[in-house]
Parts: sequence; C-alpha cells; structure tokens
Amino acid sequence: MTGHYLAMQCDGPGQPLRVVHRAMPVPGPKEMLIEVAACGVCRTDLHVIDGDIPAHYPIVPGHEIVGHIRQLGSKVEGFELGERIGVPWLGHTCGECDYCRSGRENLCDVPEFTGCTRDGGYAEFVVADSRYCFSLPYRFSDAEAAPLLCAGLIGWRAFRLAGEGDRVGLYGFGAAAHILAQIAVWQGRYVYAFTKPGDVAGQAFARKLGCVWAGGSDVPPPQPLDGAILFAPVGSLVPSALKAVRKGGRVVCAGIHMSDIPAFHYADLWGERSICSVANLTREDGLEFLTAADKSGISPSVETMPLAQANDALTRLRNGLVQGAAVLMP
Ligand SMILES: [Zn+2]
Ligand SMILES: [Zn+2]
Repeated sequence: MTGHYLAMQCDGPGQPLRVVHRAMPVPGPKEMLIEVAACGVCRTDLHVIDGDIPAHYPIVPGHEIVGHIRQLGSKVEGFELGERIGVPWLGHTCGECDYCRSGRENLCDVPEFTGCTRDGGYAEFVVADSRYCFSLPYRFSDAEAAPLLCAGLIGWRAFRLAGEGDRVGLYGFGAAAHILAQIAVWQGRYVYAFTKPGDVAGQAFARKLGCVWAGGSDVPPPQPLDGAILFAPVGSLVPSALKAVRKGGRVVCAGIHMSDIPAFHYADLWGERSICSVANLTREDGLEFLTAADKSGISPSVETMPLAQANDALTRLRNGLVQGAAVLMP
C-alpha cells in the first residue's frame, strides 16, 4: 500500500502526543501491515510518555491493538489478508538468549515492545511481527477486544502467579482488574476489590461485576486473602497487601513501574508470605488467556474515543476517570 497515514507521536519524555503524517511502511518478510480498528489506552502508555521506562523516541504509543491485515510479508505463516488480529505489548524476542530458550521469553534480554521500542497502535496503521500476533475470539467487538491484549493478558499472568486460593485481592480497580475479576468470579473465586479511598463509584462498579467486597485500599479486607495483585503503581500498597494476605500468601506487583516501597516489618513477610513482580507476557500466556476470556463470557467495559483525542484519553486515565478501559478508535 502507498500514501500516508495519521499517527499520534510522542517526541520525547514529558511531551504531549502530536498528530503526524507518515509514509506507509513496508512490512519485512515476517511482518504484517495492519489497519488499526481499535487501540486500548494502558497505564504503561503514560509511563512511556512520562519517560518512566526506557522507550525509543519519537514513538507512537499503544500496545493493545486490534486491526485487520492489509499486507503480508513474504514469509508470514498462519495469517490471511483481511483477518482480524491482535497485537500485544511483546513485539519481538531474540529466540536465542537463556530466557528465550527456557520458555521465559517474557524476560528476553533484547526484546522489542510495541508502542515503546517499536511504533504502536495510536495510529491508522501499524507494522507488527506476525509471530507475536494473536487471532481474536469473534465474540468481542474491536473495542472490547483491545483491553484484552495487555490489561487482560498481563493481568492473567499476574493472576496465575497469585496462586490458586479462593480469596484474591485486586488493588487498583482499572482496566486489568475489571477483566480479571470477571474471570475469577467465573472460576468460582471470591474477589476483594481495593480502590482509591473514597472512590465510591469504583467500588460500586466492582460489586456490580461480582466482587464479594469492595473498599478503599486503606481498609483491611474482612477476611485474610490467599493472594493479592497490585495493579495500582503505588509502592506503599505493598506493605498493606502483605498484611492482608494470610500465611503462604503472595503479593504480585503487576505494573511495569511503581513508586518506592516503604520499609516494613519483617513480621509482615514472615510465614512464607512473598512478593514478586510480573514482567511482560509470553505468547503462551496470550493463547491461554484469550481462550479463557472467550469461554468465561466476560464483558469488557470500554469507553471509546477518537484517535485524535489520545491526549484527552491519557489525561482521563491519569486522573482516574476511566471506568473499565479507554479505547481509541481511528
Ligand atoms: Zn531472548
Ligand atoms: Zn499495557
């Protein structure tokens, strides 16, 4: 394809996105040119724009991409022109480092990340490495499928690491938690939702989705939890979550960036409690999660906005005004 396409570009840390017109890219042998139908807005996009994590500028953010294939590289396998696919955060791995060779490609030493080190989906078109793209379940609309690709998928990885106990706490009830809560409820587990103190609307939203309890993150849960996941990038929640889990419980930090964790008493960690982080995703996580999302009948709650309003969408997310997930529609 020829011509130009519109993209929202970040020129450097702290810069707002601006509209640019780029020449249509040509996909490499294993890449595909994708016409973007929807792209989710993730907290990580804020970290890219703020310069909290290493990114390659200028960059087009966006790593929850749903689109249709418009051009296939000469060596692409398993996809067809016109097919609807998803492009996630993990854009490429080396396949050769110790991590890649031991089934932990999420920790690859020289990875590429969509919308961070390679251009993402805040645009009308994007080029993606076909080997890291996913077919998407039909039952989700373009906008509904978008947040599955990071919020859902990396949330799923965190969820599995939190263990198999019945009572799971979710700190920060945004895009990821609202999807995970529905899956956990479908599995017959009890979900405890922790929002910003005083966020009554967020707590009501959590209860509507089947959480057995919802309250401020400054309040202990009514029962000890088996595991907890922190989606909020707030380090001071780590000691709170440790206090909320019972012996043997794990606290999983799911964000890519978090403020410093304050000192806490060893007694809070004692009893084989543990803290771990979750980094990125593997393709296997993606396949497993998308199957679970399809079967469980979850319904992502999305707020759609035109692509040109990407800066407004980011501001809404930063200010905690998005219920569920924000999605940009080119
Ligand atoms: Zn690698
Ligand atoms: Zn993300």
